[in-house]
This record gives sequence, structure tokens and C-alpha cells, in this order.
Amino acid sequence: MSDPAATDAVLAPYGPLPTDGSTRPITRWGAEVMHRPQQPVTDFDESLRSLVADMTATMYAADGVGLAACQVGVDLQVFVFDCPDDAGRRVVGVVCNPEVELPEGRDRRLDADDEGCLSFPGAYVECARPDTATVRGQGLDGQPVEFTGDGLLARCLQHETDHTRGIVFGDRISEKARKKLRKQHDKAAPDYPLSWPAE
Ligand code: ZN
Repeated sequence: MSDPAATDAVLAPYGPLPTDGSTRPITRWGAEVMHRPQQPVTDFDESLRSLVADMTATMYAADGVGLAACQVGVDLQVFVFDCPDDAGRRVVGVVCNPEVELPEGRDRRLDADDEGCLSFPGAYVECARPDTATVRGQGLDGQPVEFTGDGLLARCLQHETDHTRGIVFGDRISEKARKKLRKQHDKAAPDYPLSWPAE
């Protein structure tokens, strides 16, 4: 399926993601660090920048649209993303200490598209979420950042903020959907050795 609205536009309002990182293996659901709230980022230093560079390299190597620090086994509230919105614009950024704001009342419309997670690879099921979201937090320099998105970007901002809280999308679906998800994941397992997507 092609998207007639797709453009080559890339929006990186707070600057590009660091590109000098190394690909790390992706931590899977079941690892303790993925299922408890992460520690807030307090030091906006070189080691944070270096972690974010590795997260960026790992996200691209896995063909993902977002990745949180716990997905490389690091207990910190930070995520990176490079994700299209409904108009096909790619929005790129990093958010430390994210807080998500979702529409309420009449503005709240659920979108039940397929969702997947790099930490449970090879599996997708529907997950209903609000169709727009705003995330506020801090950038790599500690200054405030804010991103608002619809379409896949809204889903991504919510999914990645969830990771920083120790929530995976398997926690947000029915037992029946979880079983379907597990079946797909088990079938695809040979394609995703534990070192994936690192060499
Ligand atoms: Zn995920």
C-alpha cells in the first residue's frame, strides 16, 4: 500500500539524532528492567549522548521507528524515535523524562491499528490507543522538548513513553490477543537470535 500523502520531509525540530553509535542487542520482554519504572535522567552528559547514539544505531539496524533505553538493558527514562505521522512526515527526536498528554472527552478517539515491539519481535496485533498524543520532556542538552503527533507517530510516542514506565504493549491488550501475539513471535523466533540486531 502506498501513501499518497507521503513526502520526503524530515522534521527534527531539536536537531538530528547522534549517528556515531554502535548497534547493541535488543533486550526482550521478560527481562526485569523492562517491567518496572526506569530511573529519571539527571545527568545530561557525554555518557547520555553516547547511550542515545547506540540506541539510535540499534533502532535503525532493527528497522524500528522508536526505541527506549530499557530495550538495550539500560535503566533510564529516555527514548529515541524516527517515525512518520499521518501526513507521511518523518519526525525525529530524543525525549528524556517523558510525560505524555492524551486527548480527553469528545477529543478522545481510539485508533485500533496493528502494533509491534522490537523487544518482542516478529509479532503484531491490534492495540487501541488515542489517535493523537503530545509528549513533553527534555532533550540531550536538558532543555525542554515537546512533540505532538497523529497516526503512527501518536502510537509511537505512547508506546515509548510506556517503556520508560515499565509497561509493554502486551500489558494493554486482551489475553486472547496476547496469545495470538505469542504464537507469531514464537514462529518468527529463528529470525531473531538474542544478539539481534547486533552482529
Ligand atoms: Zn516496544
